[in-house]
Amino acid sequence: MRWYAADLHLHSALSPCALREMTPAAMARALAASGVHLAAITDHNSCENAAAFVTACRKEGITPLVGMELETREEVHLLCLFSSVEAGTDWQGHVYGRLPWREDRARAFGTQWRYDAGGRPMAPLERLLTISSELGLEEACAEVKARGGLCIPAHIDRPAYSLLAMLGLVPRDLPVPALEISARAREDELRLRLGKGLGGRQLVSFSDAHCLDDIWPGRTALWLAHPSWSELELALAGRDGRRVVVLPAVER
Ligand SMILES: [Zn+2]
Ligand SMILES: [Zn+2]
Repeated sequence: MRWYAADLHLHSALSPCALREMTPAAMARALAASGVHLAAITDHNSCENAAAFVTACRKEGITPLVGMELETREEVHLLCLFSSVEAGTDWQGHVYGRLPWREDRARAFGTQWRYDAGGRPMAPLERLLTISSELGLEEACAEVKARGGLCIPAHIDRPAYSLLAMLGLVPRDLPVPALEISARAREDELRLRLGKGLGGRQLVSFSDAHCLDDIWPGRTALWLAHPSWSELELALAGRDGRRVVVLPAVER
């Protein structure tokens, strides 16, 4: 076994708040240059660029995961991760059914760029993605699990759109194997603050990159036999000698 670098929170140009330079191909090149082994695309409420991301990562020798940063009814951001484009697309269909349809006519937050599986640009997505879905946190976790995926509440220490900001605690029975802390958060402080609320879950920290400069080796290292979905599951469960380590926060 050896250490692998993981970045499982990345926004492509589909997220209106991300720069247009975040094409799946450019992201994969930047991830490879940064030494990332395992990467997930997690656009707001959508998996539309997942197929292009998977293709681009495979070209660069990176193990791709398919994901989404769901905004739940409680306005909590939740990373939803899957091992395949098919599972992610099925989840996307479920989310779109519970996401109020609003046309992104003004493009006030930026254009939502889509790419086909070969990385070619397509017509921008017209439905606005940056709104909260009607899916509750518990329901979302159960539905993701039913599709073979896993959930990680995002940037729990941030003052908005986070578990601690919106709920004030980590629900004891919430079926999530890990909690994401933001890039600048200190792990020891978060552990103290959470206390027993951590409930044996792992802490992880990803880039939440919205531009290419935000892509870097990251803070989360995984001790795995090889970089894969099944090994990630073992590491997050702390089983069979697999481990998760969050490196100290650094000023960049
Ligand atoms: Zn977020
Ligand atoms: Zn994000």
